[in-house]
Amino acid sequence: CGIIGIVGREAVAERLVDGLRRMEYRGYDSAGVCTIDNGRLVRRRAEGKLNNLVVELANNPAPGNMGIAHTRWATHGAPTANNAHPHATDHVALVHNGIIENYKELRAELREDGRRLESDTDSEVVAHLISRLVEKGETPEKAVAEVLPRLRGAFALAIVFREHPEMVIGARRGSPLVVGYGDGETYLGSDALALAPLTQQITYLEEGDWVVVRREGATIYDENGEEVEREIRSSGASA
Ligand code: GLU
Repeated sequence: CGIIGIVGREAVAERLVDGLRRMEYRGYDSAGVCTIDNGRLVRRRAEGKLNNLVVELANNPAPGNMGIAHTRWATHGAPTANNAHPHATDHVALVHNGIIENYKELRAELREDGRRLESDTDSEVVAHLISRLVEKGETPEKAVAEVLPRLRGAFALAIVFREHPEMVIGARRGSPLVVGYGDGETYLGSDALALAPLTQQITYLEEGDWVVVRREGATIYDENGEEVEREIRSSGASA
């Protein structure tokens, strides 16, 4: 339901949770974060209120200067910690807003390929589809560009790659996603409000766009994989 991502120069876990708090108004049933620290995907999830995630993070911190976070409003699969996002393989973790309508076919295909899915969500298939290509040696960009056209339905996605702690890839179709530009940091969010304490400099992605977010900035592609320029404006959202 709510997405935030930070590719930063300081610890992100607390700031990710702050961003989620600013999206609480959207409603949610569970929440989670994934950072990358020392070559590890560090994933923490909790059912229920954000405070449960805060407690989980107090007991099991998620260090790292980059990461993604999500508040979930379940559409497929019960609102449990195990169905909370991020969903992950050994190489890829992602958060998803929306619905992957063809998840049953994709799940069957992945199972046939010997992959073990851990949740009851529609979202988890996307992590596995991308991971499968990355495991075969595809770059993150190529893997994402190849998987997006296979998805039916609506989505905003934020994806991290264990072997690429310098980037988060975002994508949008049918669900909003914005890029925020900071000082040596770059952000993703499902709305400008979530990013307001971090930056007012915002780009609204257009339908079908996907984006590679790095500390120094963002490179945006349209649905045909062509690099595109999108306007940066001041969100006017107050921190
Ligand atoms: N369809 C996904 C799920 O049920 C995402 C829901 C959302 O947008 O929060 O996990």
